[in-house]
Amino acid sequence: MSTQKVVELPRRTVSSVSPLTGELLREFEQHSDDAVENKIALAAKTFRDYRKVSFAQRAAMMKRAAEILENEKDTLGRMMTQEMGKTLKSAVQEADKCAVGCRFYAENAERFLADEEAKTNAARSFVRYQPLGPVLAVMPWNFPFWQVFRFAAPALMAGNVGLLKHASNVPQCALAIEDIFRRAGFPEGAFQTLLIGPDRVNKIIADRRITAVTLTGSVGAGSSVATAAGKAIKKCVLELGGSDPFIVMPSADLDKAVETAVQARVINNGQSCIAAKRFIVHQQIAEQFEKKFVARMASLKVGDPMDAATDVGPLATEDVLKGLEQQVQKTIEVGARVLLGGKRIDRKGNFYAPTVLADIPQGSPAFDDELFGPVASLYRANDMSEAIEIANNSIFGLGACAWTNDAAERDLFINEIESGLAFINGMVASDARIPFGGVKHSGFGRELSHHGILEFVNVKSICIQEANGGKSRTE
Ligand code: NAP
Repeated sequence: MSTQKVVELPRRTVSSVSPLTGELLREFEQHSDDAVENKIALAAKTFRDYRKVSFAQRAAMMKRAAEILENEKDTLGRMMTQEMGKTLKSAVQEADKCAVGCRFYAENAERFLADEEAKTNAARSFVRYQPLGPVLAVMPWNFPFWQVFRFAAPALMAGNVGLLKHASNVPQCALAIEDIFRRAGFPEGAFQTLLIGPDRVNKIIADRRITAVTLTGSVGAGSSVATAAGKAIKKCVLELGGSDPFIVMPSADLDKAVETAVQARVINNGQSCIAAKRFIVHQQIAEQFEKKFVARMASLKVGDPMDAATDVGPLATEDVLKGLEQQVQKTIEVGARVLLGGKRIDRKGNFYAPTVLADIPQGSPAFDDELFGPVASLYRANDMSEAIEIANNSIFGLGACAWTNDAAERDLFINEIESGLAFINGMVASDARIPFGGVKHSGFGRELSHHGILEFVNVKSICIQEANGGKSRTE
């Protein structure tokens, strides 16, 4: 037997593999170093003119992108479903949501970035918002269109140009998005896809022509990108993982809370950063909640994501399936109780059974980590205060929701929960009109609303003195 160490080389292809059948759908050669260099050069060249394009012209192109998304949502939806396994109905909705995001920034960007008058000792002072240049976006597969559009729509409307390094398992979606912007009339070079692996990201961040980077993905990837951005002194936005709490108090409408809890856990086959993952229920109603919740989780239809009746499709990749399997297994080994599921489904494809765990020990993967799949963790609390304490005992702080009709509990939750989004009696969701992002290991910076478009602009302060020599220094 050879003792020689096998060195694993980075893959030189990016592939679409069906999560339903394991079949290789398409394979693409990674872009060579020369091709990447040409794309960065084109981005920098395009930016020099594109930054001067009027808001009205940019808006017209962004609205055309919205029309393409709406007109082609069925085809685009099928592509997403084939490539990463989300249900077709949710994929079609995702294309529609991207169109809404494009229109939102087409209609509001000029107002968000209008000059702002300020009062100083100068004759006139104001703030002008200007684009930064080529921005690199490193994106995940779970919402393969929405994650990209919620970066691209504000970035392009602000006058930046974008380079997308999408997740390696969704190259067809990545290329389709580039094509949509091109067909919408954006200049070649305004939005380009790089088919590359993660090992090539840091070199691009270090490139002087790249002005900023945004990453949506796992904590590990975020830490790596933030380190590279810090080293190169570049602006960086991170949208990372979450282990969102879903708190239920006795005054809540229990049936509505249960129905929403199930939906909030299995949305996107359980693979959403803002999916509810930890259900913290008041002792008084815990048994009732548990019974109803388990019954509803057991009734979910798992199957082909193209089928309109399917609630839960396959996980996106075999690695995601294996990772989830290990996390649940370890949690069970250290003492968690399985109320439902607890294993992969014995059939072709990356299927994991809807699962409910209780008595989760501290230090177990279900307690500490993010579970990306249809696995719910149940906890009990004696009051809202204790529920918040359990909720905050996490490295994450992305979304959170509380179900209560008690005003004092509501205020306590709003004030004390450590999260970027806090919803009452409803499911946490992204919406172009409100900022989206987290605290703690869920990242920093914000996407969406006017906050999102301000992340990648130079906030330039301008002071104009009277020509007859007014004082300029205010110290
Ligand atoms: P991931 O493995 O971190 O990948 C995300 C992106 O980062 C991919 O393009 C990936 O490329 C790239 N990447 C991975 N490691 C990297 C590194 N060391 N340096 C540079 N780039 C790197 O995450 P994922 O599995 O695709 O997505 C799931 C995660 O995203 C979950 O944690 C989820 O909560 C989080 N997420 C957060 C939000 C939010 O808004 N907060 C939204 C959606 C998802 P390759 O694919 O080529 O490896």
